Amino acid sequence: MPHVRRGGRVAVEIKYFTDELSAEDARKDKEAIEKFPSIVKQVAESAVCHVSPLASNKVAEIQNAIGREHSFVDCAAATCGMLADNLGPIPSLVICCDSDSELAVKARNEAPHAHWGARCGCLVAVYHHDPILIWHEMFHLLGAEDCYDDGGTIDRTCGHNNCIMQFAPTIDVVGDPPFLCDENVQRINAQGNNVAGSSEISHG
Ligand SMILES: [Zn+2]
Ligand SMILES: [Zn+2]
Repeated sequence: MPHVRRGGRVAVEIKYFTDELSAEDARKDKEAIEKFPSIVKQVAESAVCHVSPLASNKVAEIQNAIGREHSFVDCAAATCGMLADNLGPIPSLVICCDSDSELAVKARNEAPHAHWGARCGCLVAVYHHDPILIWHEMFHLLGAEDCYDDGGTIDRTCGHNNCIMQFAPTIDVVGDPPFLCDENVQRINAQGNNVAGSSEISHG
């Protein structure tokens, strides 16, 4: 069952796993992911998300699918299908993996500007182990959009130098908790659990 908030608002469910990372990278990524709901609470008061590890039997299924599918888009489609096992909204999935992993290579083949991570539908792959980049990707899962254009050549389109949705955000620039511009706060406040529909790849 999806978690329902007062007023009938549905929280965004985000599952995750780390894939063949060093113990240190896995620990850092997990800590950043687990911290995300409290970040959301601080930047957008009516948005809610829940984060939890993906069950290990599902992890194995999805790892198999990633090995089998030839493209990132197909990996995402297969993943979303496997996560949709009840009548509730499809949860999103964050996979933290190595930058040489099969999934990262597929993502960069299809989206050469996806230097740190990529998203397609319900699936986010992050292959650069930095909390700010992980949170940037996770904000996409809540409905936030990039504040840059043209592969990063036009940046900070919201007019805020410290917005986390800029190209290549860093903690020194966006802070912790990070700043999120009003346009994106409104997007994620307005969003239910229905942001997994896009089948295009966007980058981190
Ligand atoms: Zn912005
Ligand atoms: Zn982005």
